[in-house]
Amino acid sequence: MKPIRFYFALFCGKLTIALLKMLKKRATNFPGSVVLTLCPDFLKHLEKPEKIIAVTGTNGKTTCSNMLLDILTDNGYDCTNNNFGGNVDTGISAALLKDSTLTGKATKKYCVLEIDERSAVRVYPYVQPDILIVTNLTRDSYKRNAHVEYIFNILNDNIPDKTHLILNADDLISSSLKKNNKRTYFGMKPFSDEQLIGNNIVRDITACPVCSSPLEYSFLRYNHIGRAKCSKCDFCSPEPDFDTASRVFTPDGRADIEVLHDGKTEKYNVPCENTINLYNATAVTAALRTFGLTEEQLAASFKKINVVRSRYDVTEEKGRTLKCIMAKGQNPVACSHSLNIARNTPDTAVILLWDDYYDRKETSENTAWYYDVDFEFLVNDNIKQIIVAGKRAGDLVLRLLVAGIPEEKISTTEHEVDADRLLDLKISKNIYIFFDMYVDQYKEILKEKIKEMMKNAD
Ligand SMILES: [Zn+2]
Repeated sequence: MKPIRFYFALFCGKLTIALLKMLKKRATNFPGSVVLTLCPDFLKHLEKPEKIIAVTGTNGKTTCSNMLLDILTDNGYDCTNNNFGGNVDTGISAALLKDSTLTGKATKKYCVLEIDERSAVRVYPYVQPDILIVTNLTRDSYKRNAHVEYIFNILNDNIPDKTHLILNADDLISSSLKKNNKRTYFGMKPFSDEQLIGNNIVRDITACPVCSSPLEYSFLRYNHIGRAKCSKCDFCSPEPDFDTASRVFTPDGRADIEVLHDGKTEKYNVPCENTINLYNATAVTAALRTFGLTEEQLAASFKKINVVRSRYDVTEEKGRTLKCIMAKGQNPVACSHSLNIARNTPDTAVILLWDDYYDRKETSENTAWYYDVDFEFLVNDNIKQIIVAGKRAGDLVLRLLVAGIPEEKISTTEHEVDADRLLDLKISKNIYIFFDMYVDQYKEILKEKIKEMMKNAD
């Protein structure tokens, strides 16, 4: 017998959804907050869809869950999902509430969820994924996530025993999760044209977790992502079950990849513009082949899907290119990936909108994360100009100077939308705007202004 408070919360939650719809407001976490306030164990009593595929991990969650949803939908699976926003318990409650009846029955058989690592404690006791992708675990916001081992332990203690894990063989941290669970590993071989320098500042695992001896890497793609073995004991990276062995990028922002699986080669055309993103496509391949899709079904659907425009947006005008790339602030690995894209492009201007406040009232507790980002990548003749915009501009400039960037290349403004005034199109052919998700509105204004500049330039 379910408690009365559950039905009351369910009714109020449904009412909230109806009201939001009437007011033409976007679906948010709010109905989820309502039900969890009225009934903290709401998720326990709500019926869940029969088959749940979920994604967690530091980077790539949203990209993976968007791909999963698009491909499953394309194959006729009607899925409940939280792709409209919230990946914490309130967002997940809102998603499941939306696709349930007034008696708490699930109206859809399938479900794709993005689940925040920190929410594991509040989600997994009630929502038990059949398949769970863990994209990777690297350091993230100190304020929210403390350090990687802390997050590893949260996941290890809370992921259900019955969940089939899809794990990154090239990540020696997350690949060790839940040793006794069923698991499928994905990975990517070193590519022939790839520079495997691995000279990032941050490496979250350097010693063998079994005997503490130094790890020996056969290759290091970025940060601690690569393949390694212990110099003393037999601890080593697991063998991938789905191993991307080759990739050819095409000008439309996509890639043709070959994935080794079970002694055969599977071929896919995927919406990935860089090697980092290919990990997401490989993870999705491993998850959906495990789910039961055939190679043909997966290949046909991959061909149809595109990169989410809000994260990666390109404009070309009169021989100049403007690229807007989103990276979560306080997440040094994601930010370093962005800088890595810019450093190999000639005649480049970089505009940094990496202030990390939600609005003008809240900023993070410190700027230590700037020192985990590889700003050293910008010490390079390709980079002609670096424009730093936002309230934290002074802190960022200090970091750039520590990296060794000549002072004359740096200019600053406190107001994000004024960054265009500092841009010199005479010296810059490629312009990058790197922005935090919370300053999207400023990025949009700035983008339009720079587009106009490019139109009117010689
Ligand atoms: Zn060892």
